[in-house]
Amino acid sequence: MTGKRSPSTILASAGVAADPHRRAIVPPVQVSDTFQWDDPETRPEYDYSRTVNPNRDLLAAALAELEGAAGGAVVNSGQAAALLATLLLPADALVVAPHDCYGGTYRLLTGLAAQGKLEALFVDQKDDRAFAAAMARRPAMVWLETPSNPLLRLVDIAQRAAEAKAAGALVIADNTLPTPLRQQPLALGCDLVLHSTTKTLNGHADLFGGALLARDAALVEQLHWWANAGGLNGSAQDASQILRGLRTLPLRVDRQEASAQAIATWLAAQPGVREVHYPGLDSHPDRALAERQQAGPGFMIAFRASGDTAAFLKGLGLVTLASSLGGFATLICVPATMTHRGMPPEAQAEAGIHPDLLRLSVGLEEVGDLIADLERGFRAAG
Ligand SMILES: *Cc1c(COP(=O)(O)O)cnc(C)c1O
Repeated sequence: MTGKRSPSTILASAGVAADPHRRAIVPPVQVSDTFQWDDPETRPEYDYSRTVNPNRDLLAAALAELEGAAGGAVVNSGQAAALLATLLLPADALVVAPHDCYGGTYRLLTGLAAQGKLEALFVDQKDDRAFAAAMARRPAMVWLETPSNPLLRLVDIAQRAAEAKAAGALVIADNTLPTPLRQQPLALGCDLVLHSTTKTLNGHADLFGGALLARDAALVEQLHWWANAGGLNGSAQDASQILRGLRTLPLRVDRQEASAQAIATWLAAQPGVREVHYPGLDSHPDRALAERQQAGPGFMIAFRASGDTAAFLKGLGLVTLASSLGGFATLICVPATMTHRGMPPEAQAEAGIHPDLLRLSVGLEEVGDLIADLERGFRAAG
């Protein structure tokens, strides 16, 4: 076996000089909906772009190599990937998800549950007894998301995946926040890994995309079958753009993470800041697990500050109030009313999402300029 290729090499070389016809360096975008057949009996490699498309294939291959997957489906959004995961389930399946999962995951699972299509059980996956009780109910699927969004709590993937497998469940990890550069759920025992490529993987905040990758080839087949049957596959244009964005992923993540570490350290030293949640700080309860399980603490920070939150946000000039993450621009959001509004107040309270909790996605600006802007915000908040 040859060794694993480095992510930088995978991404800088994906599809380069692989065009046999025109010998283009950049893979051409195959926007055609359909492809010519030689004869009606012999289905060509590419026949109809809802089913299969060269640009999606290139992107899926690059993502699969980054995650150590056998392959996967490239779909229209992170939520399309989540919907695709639920299409794998048998009737009346029990899905066990984190109580502080991504708001869109909560909305999808509770919506399907309300229609009687599945049963959704949200548990604090850090709680050994609660997790064991959930596994005793023999779930069909266990959904992991670590670090959690927005609070950046970690669960031990290897441990929870082993327990879920012992209970007979299919294990899926939403790896959007850490990216495959910082965490490898399939190597830790998960069956499926989900990405919103809208976020860091594309990195340029200008499209929607998602991917669902599987460790085993049989599951990859099922993903392709359902993505085609459900019409969930993404466009060739988007796949091409996401691969373009991905080429600089290692540079972007290194820079964003280094800035986040500096900002989190600075925030923790501010007298008006009550809580800073960042896995790269000694104060983080899961610091040791982060060092073991992740190749770095990432670029997301959650914090609470005393003073008027609205005035703080108004006082910012460089950091923008918006609800995405992982892009080039630093964004701040109020999860309670923005990303997690699909979660009722009681569920938010239980998950620790306070109304004044702020989430920062650190981008590519000069870190000193970002700290100066946050300082301006704190001055405005009084
Ligand atoms: C954004 C996000 C999703 C959903 O992705 P979309 O591309 O917006 O549909 C799922 N999980 C996490 C952790 C996310 O941040």
